[in-house]
Amino acid sequence: MYNRELILETLEVFPKGLCDDCLSGVTNIRPRQQVNQICRLLKEEGTINRHQMVCPHGCSQNKKLINLLKAKTVCEFSESKSRTDTRTIVNGCFPAHLDDLRRQMIRMLDIIEGDTARGQGFSERISRLRNDKTLPGEIACVMQTINAIRNLVVYEHYMPNQKIEKVISDSWDVLIEWSQDIKVG
Ligand SMILES: [Zn+2]
Repeated sequence: MYNRELILETLEVFPKGLCDDCLSGVTNIRPRQQVNQICRLLKEEGTINRHQMVCPHGCSQNKKLINLLKAKTVCEFSESKSRTDTRTIVNGCFPAHLDDLRRQMIRMLDIIEGDTARGQGFSERISRLRNDKTLPGEIACVMQTINAIRNLVVYEHYMPNQKIEKVISDSWDVLIEWSQDIKVG
């Protein structure tokens, strides 16, 4: 997974924001300077804000630059797409649909674990559950695929074509079939 994606996924789990040091600690991206470079780029692109404030993670009492995901990134994107792409209007809001699938996958993982995995990005969480054999390998792959496409759409403004949409809907069928007999953790 790209560090850029890892950072954005992590900021989704920390809606109050994180400083570069804490982001580096939570994501294990080293050196910390790399986090700084990526976040400055994301700020320039307008994907995140960097505000001078006390880190909500409590690492220091001094004000630092805190990285915050722009909450409206997804909405802005949906609006701009629906104006230019008629297919989006027919199918409804595609990014919103992918976000919804992701929320449902998170719910599936919450059920399996009997808890919410606070602090861990979605992809990392899938990898962990696959490693400890809680998630079957093929289910983990399918979830990663849907999530990776969702991230491309939301973070990179990628527009799926019909074949990719079919990949998503087939993958989703696999998940739904599997989730019928999820064991509660
Ligand atoms: Zn911090």
